[in-house]
Amino acid sequence: MKVDAARSALQSVNPDVSVVALHKRLDDFSNLVAQADVVLDCTDNFATRHAINRACVQQRKPLVSGAAIRFDGQVSVFDMSRKDSPCYSCLFSEDAQVEEVACSTMGVFAPLTGVVGAMQAMETLKLIAGIGESLNGRLMILDAKNADWRTVRVRKDAGCKVCG
Ligand SMILES: [Zn+2]
Repeated sequence: MKVDAARSALQSVNPDVSVVALHKRLDDFSNLVAQADVVLDCTDNFATRHAINRACVQQRKPLVSGAAIRFDGQVSVFDMSRKDSPCYSCLFSEDAQVEEVACSTMGVFAPLTGVVGAMQAMETLKLIAGIGESLNGRLMILDAKNADWRTVRVRKDAGCKVCG
């Protein structure tokens, strides 16, 4: 199973790491988010992303979000421990009509997932250690095909149904 493979891979890199692998579909992330210092979203669909975001907003937990599709990568931090922070839904509204683009049909340039994952790990360690300036309120966009990084501001939406 995917979760067992992930646990084995993590423990082969660091035998001291404690991994709790859950092999079930979750709609409510409240209990898991309550136990976390920082939440990383590495999922591949908007329904799950919004459910995780809602739990992070409710419990004021920092969310480190990453996405990769085709040659495009995105990384951002939504630090909900800070009142002025935008949430994921401020950027991608739950009401928006989005066409779900599945990795399974569109594919993803394999090294891109490594880059996005490493960026998420970096932002997470910075948040835990209180080092430097996080990506809170900014979205980093990687165009891997043209080797181009852009950073755009993400503002809190006063009319956001989740955090407004
Ligand atoms: Zn919001």
